[in-house]
Amino acid sequence: MQNLAEKIKDAAEQNRDYLVRLIQDLVRIRSYSGEAEEIQLFLRDLLSGLKMETSLIKVEPTRLEQYKGFSFDGFPYDNRYSLLAVRRGSSAAKGQEGRSLMLNGHIDVVPPGDLESWNDDPLSGKYEQGRVYGRGALDMKGGLAAGITALKLLLDLGYHNRGDLLISSVCGEETGGCGAFALVESGVKAGGCIILEPTQLKICHLQSGCHTFRITIKGRSIHACMAFKGESAIDKFFPIYEALKKMDRKRHEQFSPDLAQNYENPLNIAPFSVGTVNAGDWPSSVPDRLEAHGRMGIFPGETVEEMHAEFETTVKEAAAQDPWLAENRPLVEWYEGLFEPASTDITGNLVTSLAASHQQITGREVQYEAATYGSDMRIFSIYGKIPTVLYGPGDVSLAHTVNEHIEIDQALEAVCTIAMMIHNWCGGRLRCR
Ligand SMILES: [Zn+2]
Repeated sequence: MQNLAEKIKDAAEQNRDYLVRLIQDLVRIRSYSGEAEEIQLFLRDLLSGLKMETSLIKVEPTRLEQYKGFSFDGFPYDNRYSLLAVRRGSSAAKGQEGRSLMLNGHIDVVPPGDLESWNDDPLSGKYEQGRVYGRGALDMKGGLAAGITALKLLLDLGYHNRGDLLISSVCGEETGGCGAFALVESGVKAGGCIILEPTQLKICHLQSGCHTFRITIKGRSIHACMAFKGESAIDKFFPIYEALKKMDRKRHEQFSPDLAQNYENPLNIAPFSVGTVNAGDWPSSVPDRLEAHGRMGIFPGETVEEMHAEFETTVKEAAAQDPWLAENRPLVEWYEGLFEPASTDITGNLVTSLAASHQQITGREVQYEAATYGSDMRIFSIYGKIPTVLYGPGDVSLAHTVNEHIEIDQALEAVCTIAMMIHNWCGGRLRCR
């Protein structure tokens, strides 16, 4: 008699074409930022067909302003929806408690960039040599399709879940998470959530945060031939910049080594980085103003207020060393783009159960990683109070690049581990035919 892992793997193989076609279908429906109607309607019909109750949740930004981490993303909200699909478990009908699980994915994708660099149309969904190509194939329509295929496979095996199974598809992840906020605001609840982002089937339980800043420095302009009588805002920026870089290094050295070991580079966990510097308006004038914009990392376990305080104190202390800056204090402002850090207990039920499911299917121990990029993990865990991890097929270093693609073999492996996880977590029976 076959064990459960073998049954799931056989059934997954029979659903390989289903998975490929689903990723192709999703890639071919345009869903750049601000476009979230057609694809959500497509998914609603698909999930209704898999015996789920579905609801579309309109993104209403005025209702989301209550959340500190929410900001307007500049795209129209008219036709943007999140989708929630629920397959009720048998325990609810019997008035019992069952463990519920939410699988989540975002359907918005980033722009294709230079079309000349793509081998095919970014929305081609071309299937070649075991890979499906196209914008979003990896980040993260492939992962979402793997989650849906896991449910399809379990239904093929006659499975009925005991606890509720939820599949949610959100918009706006790439621009700050309005879709996930809308889902949380609608009151979604689950015992655990897996965001099917490309982690190469590693469990990502830690995520750094970041916030966008602007530093404005004043100078005194004068004709460049008399530069010594002016105050160059560019010169004045250097000591501030140096002090912030030193602070960045010190913060990393002081961070918990236990958590730091989960990151690829222990000096790049919650980095400080300046993205743009603008100063002056004329080649032969001493510049009287400089504006630097960048992002400052927030460590897991740190609050945004703590980070702000350390950053602002560093700027203040560096400015105090310079007579001009002591009089003309640099201005630090924080705006939009707040991504809070998030973490989920590595010894908690969600992580241990997912690790066991992974091992049952692959025969390998799962690996852990920490993310330095932002995701909706923070929204579900902080605001939705749902323990959340990232776990899905594909390599994130191929995200947002030209000729984006996903390997079907790994996506199919994800189908199996997720199906196993649904079974292990939600409970219930297979009625094998
Ligand atoms: Zn993503």
